[in-house]
Amino acid sequence: MYPLKANDYSDEEKIGLISDHFKEIMSILWLDLENDSLKKTPDRVGKMFVKEIFKWLKKENKPEISTFDNSFKYNEMIIVKDIKLFSFCEHHFLPFVWTACVWYIPNWKVVWLSKISRIVDHFSRKPQIQERLTEEIYNELRNVLNTENIMIIIKAVHYCMIIRWVEDINAQTITSRVWWTFQENDKTRNEFMNLIKI
Ligand SMILES: [Zn+2]
Repeated sequence: MYPLKANDYSDEEKIGLISDHFKEIMSILWLDLENDSLKKTPDRVGKMFVKEIFKWLKKENKPEISTFDNSFKYNEMIIVKDIKLFSFCEHHFLPFVWTACVWYIPNWKVVWLSKISRIVDHFSRKPQIQERLTEEIYNELRNVLNTENIMIIIKAVHYCMIIRWVEDINAQTITSRVWWTFQENDKTRNEFMNLIKI
């Protein structure tokens, strides 16, 4: 469950408040807010938080995903890979850049492939931890597609690790959510691993 606690502020009010508070943070850090280059930074940060990098915090921004009947009775793997996105580590508010691979075998419902990317994207632009992100995508796909036959792998590079202490720009974190019978099915698992080359 994503930890949200809603308030009644409009977007414009949120931008104004964030901008005021960010001004204070900058002053505390001794930055000169009269400087031409810094003057508008608080406003920019406010707009960026509300309209861009955390825009999926608003529930009403959730995309409508329509499904259609699997009338051609396709029951092999469908894989959408290399979906590249970013989120923000909720512990440090620094970005993590990630790539998702989604696998599923349709039941009686299918979606346009581009919609898979939209579902994945919807969980990206907000403060996140990679483990919850993986679970959220899995649960949403399970609801939309009406099947348990889903697998997700997320590979991420966390800038809070790189910048703060590891200093290894190649460090990657991998999380996955696997359909339970998939774990016992060597043939399907090998086929999948070959296709995505992970
Ligand atoms: Zn972090």
